[in-house]
Amino acid sequence: MKIHEYQAAAILKSNGVPVPLGYMVDNLDDVKATVETIQKESNNEAVVVKAQIHAGGRGKGGGVKYSPNLSSAIENAKSIFGMQLQTPQTSAEGQKVRKLYITQAIDIAEEYYLAITLDRSSSQPVIIASAEGGMEIEELAHTSPDKIIKEPINPIFGIQSFQTYRIAEALGLSGKSLKEACKVISDLYKSYVKTDASLAEINPLVLTKDDRIFALDAKFSFDDSALFRQQNIDTMRDINEEDPADVEASKFNLNYIKLNGNVGCMVNGAGLAMATMDIIKLKGGEPANFLDVGGGANVETVKNGFRIILSDKNVTAVLINIFGGIVRCDRVANGIVEAVKVLDLNVPVIVRLEGTNAVEAKEILASSGVSIIPAGSLDEAAEKTVEVAISK
Ligand code: GDP
Ligand code: MG
Repeated sequence: MKIHEYQAAAILKSNGVPVPLGYMVDNLDDVKATVETIQKESNNEAVVVKAQIHAGGRGKGGGVKYSPNLSSAIENAKSIFGMQLQTPQTSAEGQKVRKLYITQAIDIAEEYYLAITLDRSSSQPVIIASAEGGMEIEELAHTSPDKIIKEPINPIFGIQSFQTYRIAEALGLSGKSLKEACKVISDLYKSYVKTDASLAEINPLVLTKDDRIFALDAKFSFDDSALFRQQNIDTMRDINEEDPADVEASKFNLNYIKLNGNVGCMVNGAGLAMATMDIIKLKGGEPANFLDVGGGANVETVKNGFRIILSDKNVTAVLINIFGGIVRCDRVANGIVEAVKVLDLNVPVIVRLEGTNAVEAKEILASSGVSIIPAGSLDEAAEKTVEVAISK
């Protein structure tokens, strides 16, 4: 799960990381009073108006605007609020801006990159830092990976002061700002662990002209499996930012990942989903999604799975490939027949059921009267599916 910058900043602040003064607004009427409050509290005319969407690169897309005074802040807020913000990290149509974060403007001397994430290959958190932070960090990772510092952290011992020192020094800091940066690094680690984050990122971490350290932009992602014990984090969820099909799928415990092709795939088990996608591609087709109905493939899950797959207008054929282990194929077959009847499908459905009670399942499908294209082997199923998907 992801959150907005203003929420991430609040987490950092509560863990001791200095962040610019800022307030979130979700309607334009509040902009003037909010800017005036920030001006008064920060003793500075200038503010920054920042679009809140769950994607980075907002600066590049025109979603972050330095505003030297109240009237420019209001103007910038008007132009950003409600826009379809396109950044290198959004889809082509962009993401609608429903919230703004207005912050005091900071006088930047240097921009650094600082993040903590899980290094799956060494099974421990790793600190990633670079003296060249800001908006070009993704570029830097490709062109000069040597400019990126990595420091693994032993999760049992936690972060050590020599490690925070090593990173701060590598960023080129010294004296008072080095000390402040060491504290920020260890507080960032604290917030990462405490919230069950999978990513805690500050980009840029800035050094101001008067030698202070601030987290100017923050991003957190959390491990969904830990949300049950992270009630505070769970309430930060903003489903406006999530794909509606993903939201639907998670309601019904279905694993759904949208892809760009036109063959909808309903499968049980992630391994079978991978194999199904592979064979579709092998036969010249393109999967429209990865939908895993899991172990409980019954009438309801099949129906919901169909609805989610068909909400994608690119889908021109659906392949159902279920292996009956614990789940019995005859039950799945009943589910498919009922779902096809009530949902009034207008795309061909190819069905391959194999495993427990597959013979009974075939009879149910054959005698159902609904138009389903049965298939025996996986090879045959994929071939038939790609054929009808293309001819549609
Ligand atoms: P992102 O593009 O989504 O990562 O949004 P950021 O919040 O990181 O802002 C993008 C860039 O805007 C930063 O890298 C800074 O260069 C600039 N920026 C953001 N806030 C301030 C500020 O308070 N003062 C100045 N001078 N620049 C800022
Ligand atoms: Mg940023």
